[in-house]
Amino acid sequence: MVGAGPAGAELARLLAQAAVSVTLVDRLPDLRRGAFSSAALPLAALAELGLPAELVASRWSQWQLLGPQGQWRQWRAATPLGAVLDFGELRQWLAQQAQAWGAQLLLGWSVQSTAERGGVLCTSLRGPAGARLELESDWVIDASGAARVLVGPLQAQAEPLVTGVGLEWLLAVDQPRWQSWRDRLSFVLGSRWVPQGYGWVFPMAPGQLKLGVCRLLDAGRPQPSLHQLQQGLLQLTGLRGAQVLDRHGGLIRSTIQRRESHGQGRLLGLGDAVSTANLLGGEGIRHAMASARVLAPLLLKSLGSDQSPLPAYRRGLREKLGWRWPISGRLARRTWLGLHSPKADQRLELLLSGLERCRAEELSALLFNYQFERYGPRLCSYLLGR
Ligand SMILES: Cc1cc2nc3c(=O)[nH]c(=O)nc-3n(C[C@H](O)[C@H](O)[C@H](O)COP(=O)(O)OP(=O)(O)OC[C@H]3O[C@@H](n4cnc5c(N)ncnc54)[C@H](O)[C@@H]3O)c2cc1C
Repeated sequence: MVGAGPAGAELARLLAQAAVSVTLVDRLPDLRRGAFSSAALPLAALAELGLPAELVASRWSQWQLLGPQGQWRQWRAATPLGAVLDFGELRQWLAQQAQAWGAQLLLGWSVQSTAERGGVLCTSLRGPAGARLELESDWVIDASGAARVLVGPLQAQAEPLVTGVGLEWLLAVDQPRWQSWRDRLSFVLGSRWVPQGYGWVFPMAPGQLKLGVCRLLDAGRPQPSLHQLQQGLLQLTGLRGAQVLDRHGGLIRSTIQRRESHGQGRLLGLGDAVSTANLLGGEGIRHAMASARVLAPLLLKSLGSDQSPLPAYRRGLREKLGWRWPISGRLARRTWLGLHSPKADQRLELLLSGLERCRAEELSALLFNYQFERYGPRLCSYLLGR
């Protein structure tokens, strides 16, 4: 298993639990470090995935959006709608679960390549101080996220690729500032603040906030640096001067139709490596773990037989992500990539004012369950740019 992120660690756990011999490899020497993900999830996902309370850094019950015209809008629920996890702790916990079921964990080892020799897959690893190692296995799973280290780059595909690049700081703040950002997911939307992307402030543990920016890559347009955008966001939110506890970031990348190769022979891709990250809300933890849950039973059936799990895996994953998935991808591309002009700001402002009548729960259903039906004609005209 290449990559001990949510996808790889979850599949390692499920396979080890079924008494399969598994080695889980990650290039990170410590899974608590480099915790690049904001890790906001809806509450239902925690229950569905069986994630324990100790991974929850904070819970949130409100949405707070700053629109292009500088107006904050709030949507409040009476009870929590979701959680912000400590992503480093999540990875650590998932890997420990896999280990507890018998998986071997190799940290600080970077997978270089894999090739079939004499009926087995030989995978080359490079480790600390240039050490080298070769592992033999019947199957190899590429769960290396956007790196797609073994299943190959997505650029080769005919399908358009949507790539977001994010930068996030973990800040220590005083009580008054913590109070004004706790209990809510806050997003900053508009080309004045973050062209072709968005900014956010999420609550972590008491006294800690995550402040980040993400923008989609657009080779056809000059784009400000993430650092520049983040400085603007610090100013705008009044969080400039807060102590920075950690700086991290990463890529989030998916195709919209998900037509890319999901593997070949006994090499399979999993999680973000096969576009399970959703660009609309910039989230993919639960989908990455879901991909492991789709693949596990199929892979168990294929072990020791010649039958490839690939067709059923592709189909199962498509069904799991649902028919709304490609619409959410198109909406993401339209919303974020197109957000670079006064006209796009106006369109977004209209959409936000249209959402004012929603309840917080409905906004969650829109952003996490992609329930667009309710907004039918309004959304269609937004997608078509009218
Ligand atoms: C800035 C940012 C904010 C985000 N915020 C959220 C959010 O709020 N909510 C949410 O649900 N999702 C969020 N996401 C997305 C989410 O983190 C991913 O969708 C999720 O982590 C994907 O899981 P994965 O296991 O497929 O891949 P990853 O989590 O990327 O795991 C891949 C693993 O593979 C390892 N690896 C890579 N190459 C190699 C190699 N050659 N050898 C060995 N190991 C290797 C990496 O070290 C990594 O640990 C965010 C992403 C970014 C970039």
